[in-house]
Amino acid sequence: MTIFSRIIKGELPSYKIAEDDRFFAFLDINPITWGHTLVVPKIEEDYLFDIDDDMLGDMFKFTKRVAAAIKTALPCRKVGMAVLGLEVPHAHIHLVPLKNEGDLDFKKKIENPSPKKMKEVCELIAKSFK
Ligand code: AMP
Repeated sequence: MTIFSRIIKGELPSYKIAEDDRFFAFLDINPITWGHTLVVPKIEEDYLFDIDDDMLGDMFKFTKRVAAAIKTALPCRKVGMAVLGLEVPHAHIHLVPLKNEGDLDFKKKIENPSPKKMKEVCELIAKSFK
């Protein structure tokens, strides 16, 4: 089972933003900006672009709702999106609140993000999810 499946099942903790029957969104534990969020399907598929068309379309619709919640909750100009998947073999979309172009840089992690601030950010985004 992947680490993300264990998070979805509640076996491992996460800063959960939202879920429905097929998708789950939670804060990235090593954020590059505050509010950096991951959206994952509940099924285990390694590569995002191996997900079938209908499901991928629905995942994108769910991701759009999460991005809207981030944009409402946090001061940012736009919410950027990236797909890497080089570390965890469970498809996921990164959503990153952006103030500047340089914010979408995966080499610039926030150092030791405090659990208190992660919880605050998580609650703000979760509250804005519709
Ligand atoms: P990648 O597979 O290259 O897209 O990177 C995986 C991402 O998952 C990284 O940004 C990690 O910080 C993030 N990550 C790994 N484990 C966890 C976890 N337990 N909770 C939240 N995010 C995680």
